[in-house]
Amino acid sequence: MNITAVRVASFNEIKEPGQFVLDMLYPADNLRDLTPEELEQHAGQGYVKYQEYPPDDSAIIGKFWTQAELEAVANGPVATGITFLCPCGCGAIGGIRFNQFGRPGSAWTWDGNKDKPTCTPSIQRTEGCRWHGHLIDGVFVPC
Ligand SMILES: [Zn+2]
Repeated sequence: MNITAVRVASFNEIKEPGQFVLDMLYPADNLRDLTPEELEQHAGQGYVKYQEYPPDDSAIIGKFWTQAELEAVANGPVATGITFLCPCGCGAIGGIRFNQFGRPGSAWTWDGNKDKPTCTPSIQRTEGCRWHGHLIDGVFVPC
C-alpha cells in the first residue's frame, strides 16, 4: 500500500507511518580540537573537531565532525538525510543519509524537494519488517 510521506517539524512529532523529518546539519561555533586521547581512540575516522552538546535528557553528549561536514555547512545549514516512521506500520524508525561526509555507509540521492522528496535508490530496512520500497515524489511505494 502506498503511504504519503508527510514532513513534520521535529522528531518528537513523528506519530504516523510515513511521517518524516528532514535531518539538518547546522554550523556550530563551539567546536574544539580533539584531545590526544580522542585522536588516538578515533584514529582513521577522519574527525577533525568535537562539539559538546548542552546537557539534556539525551544520551548523546556531543558530535565528532569530519572535514567534509565542516565544508558542507560553510555557507549555512544543509539537509543530511531523512528520518521516518516505517510506512508498513510496524512502528520502527528508519532513516537514510544523503551524504556520509567521509564516513562508511550508504548515501542516497535526493532531489532537493523538502516536502515531496524523491530519493534513489530504493530503501530497504535491514532489520525488523525489512520493508523495501521507493520514496517517489513524497510517496512511499512498496516494491
Ligand atoms: Zn516496517
